[in-house]
Amino acid sequence: MDNTIIEYFLSLIKIDSESKNEKAVAEKLEKDLEELGAEVLFDNAHQRTGGNVGNLYAYIPGSINKPPILFCAHMDTVKPGNGINPQIKDGLITSDGTTILGADDKSGITEIIWAIKELKESGEKHAPVEILFTISEEIGLKGAKHLDYSLIRSKTGYALDSHQVGRLSIGAPSQNSLKFVVRGKESHAGVAPEKGINAIRVAAEAIAAMPDGRIDSETTCNVGIIKGGKATNVVPNEVIIEAEARSHNKDKLKKVSDEMCQAFREVVKKFQVGKYKAEVEIKVKEEYQAFRLNEKAEVVVLAKDAAEKLDIEFKTEIGGGGSDVNIFNQHGLLMAVAGSGMDKVHTVDECIKISELEIGAKWMLEIIREYSK
Ligand SMILES: [Zn+2]
Repeated sequence: MDNTIIEYFLSLIKIDSESKNEKAVAEKLEKDLEELGAEVLFDNAHQRTGGNVGNLYAYIPGSINKPPILFCAHMDTVKPGNGINPQIKDGLITSDGTTILGADDKSGITEIIWAIKELKESGEKHAPVEILFTISEEIGLKGAKHLDYSLIRSKTGYALDSHQVGRLSIGAPSQNSLKFVVRGKESHAGVAPEKGINAIRVAAEAIAAMPDGRIDSETTCNVGIIKGGKATNVVPNEVIIEAEARSHNKDKLKKVSDEMCQAFREVVKKFQVGKYKAEVEIKVKEEYQAFRLNEKAEVVVLAKDAAEKLDIEFKTEIGGGGSDVNIFNQHGLLMAVAGSGMDKVHTVDECIKISELEIGAKWMLEIIREYSK
């Protein structure tokens, strides 16, 4: 293994691992974890997600009789994530501007591995540790959704997949995705527009009638994709709209989702030419459920105590996005999302400070120590 945490991080981000292509990085991690005394195995999640490797699960036996504590990160990156050429200047690591950096989430992986490395080198007694590196997080939390949960013995733990070290997300909203296919009737736009039903027009009226943006402090919704039409001289007969709704409150999520659907159902009724009626086909899919941890939960207290020992400013927050942790909590684990130092993620300006990587690893090590007491 590399001599410094920086070298280790750089070696990971140089391995291409856009979603569904995590195999190369997974094989390196398997080798490194085995070197650190872990038992490593893979599940078969990729058979259902279409990737080239499953979720990586590792167990590090402890010398203290306690259930294990779980540390997670995801192995995949968003695009453009191939051929990353890192640059270091004034303590900041960036890409060369043509790709993302991959600190999301290889900073999380690095800090977990480094914490274990230092734990092993110290020779101190510790509780058992479980590590989970998931696949295809960035394309719908697919690795977590198809994980073999019978592997996990921990009750609680952390996913390192957020910005500043010392921040702990203890809540996130539920999300629904909504797809509307509006069907009208095709006709020549110059010769016989009155014989057509313009699906774009129908969709536009429905979107205008829908709730949009921030609904209240807990709830948001957004139309993000609209596709349709073939040519300006054709009255379009189909348009597809994709949208999402999020809320920390289950009832509010249902209400806003219902209102979005109702807007389409009402508007299509207004469009009819002869025996042809406009139609809408609606699909609502639950992507993940909200979670909210108590400030007094063990997972919060451990992170706080560990941060204080290291003089890291600690703060809990409620996130607006979903992550693997939503899925883990749905399966009965009590998990929080810890900051690992990544910044400007999902852009070519993505970066991380070397100091954040170093302190992030120390924070995780200190959490293991606190848990092992
Ligand atoms: Zn991430």
